[in-house]
Amino acid sequence: MKKEIKIFSPATVANVSCGFDVLGFALDTIGDEMVVRKAPQKGIKITKIIGQDLPLEISKNVAGVAALTMLKETNLDFGFEIEINKQIKPGSGIGSSAASSAGAVWAINKLIGSPFNNLDLVRFAMEGEKLASGTAHADNVAPALFGGFTLIRSYNPLDIIKIPTPKNLMATVIHPQIEIKTSDARKLLRETVTLKNATKQWANVGGLISGLYANDYNLIGRSLKDYIAEPERSKLIPGFDNVKQACLNAGALGCGISGSGPSIFALCNGEKTAIKVSDAMENIYSKIGIAFDIHVSKINNKGIKILENR
Ligand code: ADP
Repeated sequence: MKKEIKIFSPATVANVSCGFDVLGFALDTIGDEMVVRKAPQKGIKITKIIGQDLPLEISKNVAGVAALTMLKETNLDFGFEIEINKQIKPGSGIGSSAASSAGAVWAINKLIGSPFNNLDLVRFAMEGEKLASGTAHADNVAPALFGGFTLIRSYNPLDIIKIPTPKNLMATVIHPQIEIKTSDARKLLRETVTLKNATKQWANVGGLISGLYANDYNLIGRSLKDYIAEPERSKLIPGFDNVKQACLNAGALGCGISGSGPSIFALCNGEKTAIKVSDAMENIYSKIGIAFDIHVSKINNKGIKILENR
């Protein structure tokens, strides 16, 4: 059995317009790298974090919390050391904490001969998410672990469905460097929705899922509308309406808030359009004068990947 594994754990876009709290997808060009190795002492030790100032203490780092949750269901007489090369900025809205939580449990599972399935790993990784945001949500860790698009149909019992991804589907994501606390973004949401909006929302979820199964880009585009979270949350993101309009003008199928923001994603048919959309986003944010990162990516259908196995 291997002693050490180096992995890529992807950034993820949760919510996906009409799929508020239930849909997510994984990216390919942005993610954390992690090295996980067996160690003689039992338990978990985070030995190194590169790129961001995050706690090494396992009770304060989502990777430690997720990994310990998993170890409680094993009976091992050795432990693990974790190194994190943090490429995804925390609080970006593209699943920074999820990449660490999911990556830690996925890598440990591989090192011990894969006794757990993806659904178990989601369950463990959700405990890391609970540390980061206060709720054990799965909409980022599920696409990181399953790859592609995932639907959380139910939490109790946990029921996650992987949805196929059309071949040419690409995502463009801009991360404006402002801070939006998930808790503030939650507070903006109303407790109740009108029947009219609920009906439109679930019609669009059905449309989006059908479009993904049928490779129907036009249907995907028609369905990427959010009547529940975006009208409230977009107020927290400077220039959101202009960015969205510019993305649609540049040929995006649709555009919305990634997670609870501040990142904004657009889905596109093909790389050429995805790059045009990236230029449109860049153009608007350069004028606003807020620093930003942009990622143009295929949908990552595999999720977490092995980089090295020693
Ligand atoms: P995002 O908005 O990109 O999904 P989150 O809000 O989920 O990011 O997570 C960021 C929070 O989680 C921060 O408060 C951060 O300090 C905490 N955190 C703890 N451990 C980690 C880790 N390994 N990676 C990222 N964030 C972590």
